[in-house]
Amino acid sequence: MLVNVSDTENGSKTFHWKTSYPTATYLVSLAIGKYDKWTDTYTSMDGNIQMPVEYYTYPNLTEKARYDWKNTVDMLKFFSGYIGEYPFINEKYGMATFGWVGGAMEHQTISSMGYTLVTGNGKYEDIVVHELVHQWFGDAVTPASWKDIWLNEGFASYGEALWVEHTNGKDALKNFMKKSDYSFFMGTVYDPEGYIFGPTVYKKGSWCLHMLRGVTGDSLFRQIIRTYYEEFKYKNADTYQFQKICEDITGNDLNYFFNQWIFTGAGRPEYSYSWKYEKDDASTDLYKVSLLLKQNQDDMEVYSMPLKILFKTNAGEEEITVFNDSRSQQINHSVKGIPLDVIIDNDNWVLKKIKKEENN
Ligand SMILES: [Zn+2]
Repeated sequence: MLVNVSDTENGSKTFHWKTSYPTATYLVSLAIGKYDKWTDTYTSMDGNIQMPVEYYTYPNLTEKARYDWKNTVDMLKFFSGYIGEYPFINEKYGMATFGWVGGAMEHQTISSMGYTLVTGNGKYEDIVVHELVHQWFGDAVTPASWKDIWLNEGFASYGEALWVEHTNGKDALKNFMKKSDYSFFMGTVYDPEGYIFGPTVYKKGSWCLHMLRGVTGDSLFRQIIRTYYEEFKYKNADTYQFQKICEDITGNDLNYFFNQWIFTGAGRPEYSYSWKYEKDDASTDLYKVSLLLKQNQDDMEVYSMPLKILFKTNAGEEEITVFNDSRSQQINHSVKGIPLDVIIDNDNWVLKKIKKEENN
């Protein structure tokens, strides 16, 4: 918070800023220049606090930034509702342009936006979302070490997906996750090697949360995110602590999940499948589908995941969930109507490659 501006004898000014929240040192920044400034207001969820949302732009970008950043307060509302109240509610949130070209940075209580990311057509709204979500994950909950950096970047990147889903619906989420799949990710999500701010940490990290949500279901997933935030707010957290929260809330051992996606696994399942059917019983319109599902990847013997299987027949559609945990699994299921197609993971909850073989 800007406490005071005073003139000095030599004609310069002294700005006095203050924060009462713990701050990780890498989240402190000073932005100094000729700025236009305007202010918006976010009302806390309990209705008691009117928090300023302050925008600072280079004067030639003001009009464009007013357009690009216009949804910031709505984003604050959405993510406070989803995760828990904005962590710095007694101070402020803000956005400021700065002299970077292609990047942005989640400085605590005021995100910095590279000036080329202000375009006046909302092109980089996902970055506005990303930096805001960092205020919860990165800033309020800070990773214990750089090994855990996906707890920042995977979470902020999945925040982008949640915003897309919130504003544009389920199909938009599905497309967004498809675009977040670079089809190949190098190394592990945890303790990444080399340049750590790469697609594995951001995009596969985001996919890990998406898959976790696929495994737990929406309601438990949200409970996990909220509890993790509440428990580690203004502190540090590591990946093992996050896993423990996931296990406490679901009541399940999630070692398989964390090992194959985050700690050890560096690949993805490569599925192939074929199916055939026969009349189940001459007296009914039931057909028995026999599905043979295989895993063919080299990097890991078996990926264990729940998979949704969609059966399309001339009488409609039916979806079941199976837990796939072997290289070769035979699945038998009876459906109503003549089977026309079988689709695995139609809603794209699993990072994978998949190939349908000729029906046999
Ligand atoms: Zn980030």
